[in-house]
Amino acid sequence: MEIDWAKWVCPILLPISFIWDQIQYWSIIIGYYARFWGKSHEERVKSVQDQVIRWRTEGNGRKMCTARPSWMSVSQQVLGYKDKMYKVRIDLRNVLEIDTKKMVVHVEPMCTIGFLNRLLVQNGVTLPIVPELDFLTIGGLVMGGGIESTSHIHGLFQHICLEYELVTANGEVTIANLKENADLYHSVPFSYGTLGFLTRVTLKLTPYIPYLKLTYRPTYTVEDATEVLDREANRKSGNDSVEGIMFTENTAVIMTGEFVTEDKVEKDKINRMGLWYKPWFYRYVKTFLDKGETVEYVPTLHFHQRHNKPAFWLTHYWLLRS
Ligand SMILES: Cc1cc2nc3c(=O)[nH]c(=O)nc-3n(C[C@H](O)[C@H](O)[C@H](O)COP(=O)(O)OP(=O)(O)OC[C@H]3O[C@@H](n4cnc5c(N)ncnc54)[C@H](O)[C@@H]3O)c2cc1C
Repeated sequence: MEIDWAKWVCPILLPISFIWDQIQYWSIIIGYYARFWGKSHEERVKSVQDQVIRWRTEGNGRKMCTARPSWMSVSQQVLGYKDKMYKVRIDLRNVLEIDTKKMVVHVEPMCTIGFLNRLLVQNGVTLPIVPELDFLTIGGLVMGGGIESTSHIHGLFQHICLEYELVTANGEVTIANLKENADLYHSVPFSYGTLGFLTRVTLKLTPYIPYLKLTYRPTYTVEDATEVLDREANRKSGNDSVEGIMFTENTAVIMTGEFVTEDKVEKDKINRMGLWYKPWFYRYVKTFLDKGETVEYVPTLHFHQRHNKPAFWLTHYWLLRS
């Protein structure tokens, strides 16, 4: 039987997902401001250690994995491999400390990038790399990889990670940074949980600049798209963000961005693209194939979240199957 998603999404799934998001968001915010109450980070890590130690006697030769169910992962794969494994609950989703003097944030791995970033922005800072989908977890971004349109300057998500705390298979807590266990520090990214359970990450911060001056440049051949992308990302300085979307074999829009303070913004060119009634980002971008080169000023937080609603172009296919 085919399910008519469009009929279910508006009245049922959207309100449920809105309430789910609100619960998660407020638990992160309250969790941060009330972090000195309730269980400490060390107690939560101890619970991971206890489970790993129990696995040594109860595991019956099974391998361990995180207990996070497949439906919570961004991947559309059904992670069936977890069914046969010994599941370890990683109930660590708090932001531990935002240190605006040292410009670092200490965060637990199950915190999502969207909630972390909103809390950081409230404190006048952000990450040099903010991966586009709000629901990616810090643990997933470290263990499975993360990237963003600022990566031509800052590298991959792992390159803004200064330190990891892990519970290894013998139940010990291990710290890995450039000086201590440097080999482990370099091996953690893309290790998919094979080296231990991540329990804390220290990430670099950067000041939050409120707007991005965004230039949309349409191109009409593959050669032109490649040339513009290469020029803007590699040969030109001054671009804080570079991103391109190919719409057909020959048509693309290459977007470059420069963070700017409020006084540099041309008010009549502001686009608050994150508002609920605004068109899906990639569809809006496509209109510049006809409009030609255009400049807009986008609030930076709206820019960070631009691919959320359409999940790039997947939402369209999931809902409308066209
Ligand atoms: C449709 C789609 C869109 C994407 N878009 C982007 C994007 O815009 N930007 C971007 O940077 N990346 C993107 N990615 C890649 C994405 O960042 C990675 O797939 C990431 O690993 C998913 O994170 P997750 O939070 O869903 O984690 P999961 O899928 O739950 O975990 C990923 C891996 O990390 C391991 N892991 C997670 N937490 C821990 C922990 N605490 N301890 C030990 N191991 C752990 C898991 O076991 C698993 O092997 C996208 C992927 C997909 C499928």
